[in-house]
Amino acid sequence: MTNEEVDVRRFDNSESSPRIGRIPTPTGFPGLGDINSYLIFPEDDSGELILIDTGVASEEAWQALTQGLEKLDCRVADIGKIILTHGHTDHYGQAHRIQQTSGCELWAHENLWLTVERMLPPPERVALEKEFYAYWGVDRELVDAALARRAAVAKSFKPVEPSRLLQDGDVLDIPGFSLEVVHTPGHCPDEVIYWQPEGRVIFSGDHLLPNITPVCLLQIPRSRDEARARSLVEYQQSLAKVAPYPARVTYPSHGPPIDDHRELMASYHLSTDRRLLKISRILQKEEWMSPMDIGKALFPKAWKEQMVPVMSEVLGHCDVLEAGGHAASEDRDGVIHYRYISTPPPTDTRRLFG
Ligand SMILES: [Zn+2]
Repeated sequence: MTNEEVDVRRFDNSESSPRIGRIPTPTGFPGLGDINSYLIFPEDDSGELILIDTGVASEEAWQALTQGLEKLDCRVADIGKIILTHGHTDHYGQAHRIQQTSGCELWAHENLWLTVERMLPPPERVALEKEFYAYWGVDRELVDAALARRAAVAKSFKPVEPSRLLQDGDVLDIPGFSLEVVHTPGHCPDEVIYWQPEGRVIFSGDHLLPNITPVCLLQIPRSRDEARARSLVEYQQSLAKVAPYPARVTYPSHGPPIDDHRELMASYHLSTDRRLLKISRILQKEEWMSPMDIGKALFPKAWKEQMVPVMSEVLGHCDVLEAGGHAASEDRDGVIHYRYISTPPPTDTRRLFG
C-alpha cells in the first residue's frame, strides 16, 4: 500500500458524496502523523456542519483545523455537532476548544467513559493497573515510566460531556444523510464505525487503517475479580461484523481512503497469523513464559519504550492462542505464565468474508 498524500479536500460524487470533506491535523505522536477529521456539510444553508473526530488539543492542530475549514468555506463556529469514532486524545482532544467556540454538541458511544477513565484514572484505578502489570511480569520501573508518559499526554486533555450516548444500530438523524452506528470494540471499548448507506461509505476511525494494523489496546479490568476483555478476539469479531457492508470507499482516521476494506481485513489476518505463529514458536522453546518475557522475545527493541502496545500485542495474541486451545495459562507465584500446546493453523479468510 502506498503512502499517498492526504490533504484538505471536499470529495465529489464520483468518490462518495459532495457532502463529505476531510481535514488532516498533526497529532505530534511519533510515527502516527496526521489524524483525519471528516466533515459532513449541511443539506442547505439552514443545516449544521458536523465534524467526525477533532484532532489533538494543541495549537498546531487548532491552526490546521481552522485553516482547513477556511479552505472549505466554513468556520469552527458553524460546527453544530461533533461525533466521535472513539475517545482517544487524537480524536477527542480538541473537542473542548471547538465547543467553547461553537457551542456544539458532542455525540459518542456509551462506552466513552471507559476510554476517558483509562486516560484520566482515579488513584485507586492506578493502584489496580500496577497490580495487573505485576501479574503480567512487567518490571515496576517500566510501569512507572509508561504511567508518566500517559500523565504527560493527559495534561492537555479536557473531556467534553456527551449530550447523546450512541449505541450499536442507532441511525443518526442528519437531514438527507443517514449514518448508522456500528459498534466495533477491539482497538478500544468505545470504537464505532459509521456507515453511510446512500454513498456506501464507511468512516472507519481506527478500526480500519490503510498503512498500519490497528493496535488492540490492553483493557485492564475494573476490579480484581473481573475477567479481562480479550481485545484482539473482540477486534476479530468486529472485523467479521463490518466485512459484509458493501462499501465503495472507507475513510480512515489516519492515511488515504481505502478502496477494498475486505482485502485490507484479509491482510490483517495474515499479519495476525504470522504473529500467532511467532509467539507459538517462542513458547515452544520454553516450558512456561510470563507475558513480559514473551514481549521481550517478540519485540527485542521496542519492549522498553513501548511497554503498553507490546503488552497489548502479547496478551491479545495469547488470548487467541488460548481460545483456540493452542496455549494454556497458569498462575505461577502471582505471575501469569503461558505454555505451548500446539501450532495454530492459518485463518481461512474465504470462510470469514465469504
Ligand atoms: Zn485510537
